[in-house]
Amino acid sequence: QAKAAGRNTAASFQPQMEAQALHRLSLESRLRNAVSDNNLELYFQPKIHTKGMRLIGFEALVRWHCPEHGIISPGEFIPLAEESDLILEIGQWVLRQACQQLALWRELGHATIGMAVNLSVKQLYQEDFLAQVQALLDEFHITPGLLELEITESMVIGNIDSTISVLQALRAMGVKVAIDDFGTGYSSLNYLRQLPADTLKIDQSFVAALHDSPSDLEIIKTIISVAHTLNFMVVAEGVEDLHTLSILADANCDEVQGYLLSRPMPAELVENFLQPEHINRLYEALNS
Ligand code: C2E
Ligand code: MG
Ligand code: MG
Ligand code: MG
Repeated sequence: QAKAAGRNTAASFQPQMEAQALHRLSLESRLRNAVSDNNLELYFQPKIHTKGMRLIGFEALVRWHCPEHGIISPGEFIPLAEESDLILEIGQWVLRQACQQLALWRELGHATIGMAVNLSVKQLYQEDFLAQVQALLDEFHITPGLLELEITESMVIGNIDSTISVLQALRAMGVKVAIDDFGTGYSSLNYLRQLPADTLKIDQSFVAALHDSPSDLEIIKTIISVAHTLNFMVVAEGVEDLHTLSILADANCDEVQGYLLSRPMPAELVENFLQPEHINRLYEALNS
């Protein structure tokens, strides 16, 4: 009886797995054309100082308008792209677009706004990666300190020496480096203290339950204190409510990002967001 049930279950799973494999294949072949067909778009999510409520800049988050499946989130297609060299093409497109946007904002009078860009491991280890970044800074006349490149801990594992040298070179160019999703990887203190970085972004999984989890609060306080000891700025991502913002302010978290301020938005909406009236209204709401 159990055996029969087991066989039935297995049989009923198969069409689903096949469907998934087909879905993947169709996504992959469409993704190949995403850059050339102009189907990628950057969204931008603001980041502010926790205490002074000052806008620091935006994180660029890529979206794919798939002709067949609609908007697909990077959580779904970036891992797929990372399995091939497609990620290099997408990553270069993202970096260039982000730099171009910084130049546009500067021309609109927002000359101090920064931009954080997520990197994939393959990008970081491209031979000409540093040259690519330098060429973009030059082409768009970007103050290097306005560009921050985000890497994750998992990119470092097994490559600590080469990672350190690339990050050092980026910082020598004046570009900032952030460690993203901190706390979800191996998070060895030994890695952390060796990494030449400016910023540590605490993963949103620690932030989400902050208001009713005393242990998450203790973890966050510990991360913040270790980070400050190592001279990192600390950003909390995934801040969705005022209560969490005030807890983070009390815990000395330097910067926050999350739906509380805004969801990631297309460039047209950023222009509205940047209107002084809008920013003032936001800060008033956050201070209430
Ligand atoms: P990430 O870099 O950690 O980005 C933060 C993610 O959290 C974004 O998801 C953002 O929309 C989401 N988020 C922001 N605030 C909140 C909040 O308050 N609550 C919740 N629940 N979520 C929030 P998104 O845009 O779907 O991106 C997912 C991941 O995909 C990113 O995580 C990053 O790892 C990757 N990614 C995005 N764009 C790029 C890119 O251009 N290149 C590479 N290599 N990876 C990218
Ligand atoms: Mg990020
Ligand atoms: Mg993150
Ligand atoms: Mg992430």
